[in-house]
Amino acid sequence: MRVVPVPQLADNYGYLIIDEASGEAAIVDVAEAKPVLEAAKAEGVRITAILSTHHHFDHVGGNQDLINALGVGALRVFGYAADAERIPGISDPLDDGAEFNLGSLHGRALFIPAHTSGHVAYYFENDAVVFTGDTLFAAGCGRMFEGDAAQMKSSLERLASLPDDTRVYCGHEYTQGNLAFAATLEPGNERLQEWRKQAAALRALGEPTVPTTIGLEKAVNPFLRSDNEELRRSVQAKRPGTADDDVAIFAATRSLKDEF
Ligand code: ZN
Ligand code: FE
Repeated sequence: MRVVPVPQLADNYGYLIIDEASGEAAIVDVAEAKPVLEAAKAEGVRITAILSTHHHFDHVGGNQDLINALGVGALRVFGYAADAERIPGISDPLDDGAEFNLGSLHGRALFIPAHTSGHVAYYFENDAVVFTGDTLFAAGCGRMFEGDAAQMKSSLERLASLPDDTRVYCGHEYTQGNLAFAATLEPGNERLQEWRKQAAALRALGEPTVPTTIGLEKAVNPFLRSDNEELRRSVQAKRPGTADDDVAIFAATRSLKDEF
C-alpha cells in the first residue's frame, strides 16, 4: 500500500490509498472532488472507492461530485451502516468489524463514536495503517459533538490498542496546535518537545506532519495519557476540583483544549 495525503479545504486531509499491484486506489474522505481527481491523475491511478469516516461536510462534502465525475456505478462508497443516511452515495454500509477488499488490500471498519455517533476508522492490519478521521489526531482528538468524554476515551483506547508501529493518518493538520497545548500539561515530556521541533520543521517546508504512529501517540497525546502524573497535576491545577479519576481528567483535558 502506498498512501498519498491529499490536502483539501483549509487544513483537511484526504488520503489516496494505492494498491500498487492493481493500480486501483481508494480515497479516504472527500471534501472536494477536484484535488482528489488531480492527485489520482498525478499518481496514475484509478479511484474505485471512497472510504468515508464520518458525515461532516469537510469529509463527505465532495462524495457526490466525485461520483458524478467518475461515472455513476464506478465507485463503491463505504461508511458506517447505522449512519448511512448521512453518507452521500453510500453503497457498502459497514458494521463494526466488517472487513472488505480493495484490490489486494484488506481493510476493516472500527466503530469509534463520540466526534459523531457514526464515526469509523479504517484499519489495514497487513499494512499497519489506520485512518482515524476526526477521532484521533496527531497529539489530539476531535471535539465530542455527538458523544461524551467516556465514549471518546473508549474510542481512543480502542485505537491505542493497535500495535505501536501502526501508522496513523488523521483528518486534519492540527498537529502543531495540539502539541503546543500538550506541552502546557506535560512540560517535562521530552518526546513531546522533540516531536514539536520536528513538526515545526516539517510545516516550515510545507510538508504534512502525518503519519504519526500509535506508539508515538501513547507517548505524547494528552488524550491517551489521563493516567500520567504530571498531566493529572497540571489538569487539576488548571481545573481545581476535578475528580481524581481517568474520565474526569479526560473531560477536563478536553474542556481545557476547547478553550486553548
Ligand atoms: Zn468532523
Ligand atoms: Fe473534520
